[in-house]
Amino acid sequence: MNGGKNVDYKEWSDAIDKRVEQKRRNYKGSYCCLTMDAGLSKEGAILYYDKQYREYGVDLLERGGTLIDYCMFCGKKLPTSVRDEWFDILEHEYGLEEPLHEDKEKVPKEFWTDEWWKERGL
Ligand SMILES: [Zn+2]
Repeated sequence: MNGGKNVDYKEWSDAIDKRVEQKRRNYKGSYCCLTMDAGLSKEGAILYYDKQYREYGVDLLERGGTLIDYCMFCGKKLPTSVRDEWFDILEHEYGLEEPLHEDKEKVPKEFWTDEWWKERGL
């Protein structure tokens, strides 16, 4: 029967909501939103981001995985995959036809990170 306590709790929880809300709005990280950022960095997360191909997906473990086009938290359209470009550029600019197999050692190291598509402004 302590009404005061409830009010305090509500104020406290509103203050947290406000802080979280502000943190969300001020998010300036490299992903679409704070929730995605947190989802990706959480250990054992089912969400993944492959920077080499710029692909976002959900890892369903033994049932495989699926790529996602939109963020499931904020609804923003996610950047498109650059997987096709990865193979095209390696083939046409570097003459590597099997970059994942025979030619693997000849693949420039920026192609294993996000550097290659950032440099090209893709
Ligand atoms: Zn998002």
